[in-house]
Amino acid sequence: MNIGVLALQGDFAEHIATLRRLGAQTAEVRLPKDLDGLDGLIIPGGESTTIGKLAVAYDLMEPLRQFGREKAIWGTCAGAIFLSKDARRDQPLLGLMDITVLRNAFGAQVDSFEADLHIEALKQATQTEAPYHAVFIRAPIIESVSGSAEILSALPDGRIVAAQQGKLLATSFHPELTDDTRFHQYFLSLANA
Ligand code: GLN
Repeated sequence: MNIGVLALQGDFAEHIATLRRLGAQTAEVRLPKDLDGLDGLIIPGGESTTIGKLAVAYDLMEPLRQFGREKAIWGTCAGAIFLSKDARRDQPLLGLMDITVLRNAFGAQVDSFEADLHIEALKQATQTEAPYHAVFIRAPIIESVSGSAEILSALPDGRIVAAQQGKLLATSFHPELTDDTRFHQYFLSLANA
């Protein structure tokens, strides 16, 4: 497996470290040619407006859309926003996933929180029962999914925090900031499918 991590801004180094722990080859993606030969791509957390503006500046928008039509892409937090088709404000979006997101839905940085989630797809893929401990930092919620996008996980109050559409994944939270590698394992299985 050769997995790229979009390295324009945000916590790409943490994703690369987790992928290496799982034995994947990794590449930092900054230019369109960096996508060549990759099996999948992770778009990290950070600031979605900044990631979008830099992607426009580096002529990455169309190459990323083309990549996502065939291969696996996973966006965490800001990356999930960038994958969406609607963030309810004007900013560059890939529009690959049929999800509408609401940015900073839980408030400011101080309102960051952690929660245990039950994610059936993850349990099945990794043959484990333990809940998934998720870290939310100025996180978006996924307000709605449409088309062929499906809900992967929601908070107890019903707010959606993970979605999947074929080989595309969006999570409001940051699996790269914990020791639990199950979400990255799950993504590798999609990239390998
Ligand atoms: N609040 C950021 C945004 O709207 C996302 C935060 C994050 O990636 N942790 O882009």
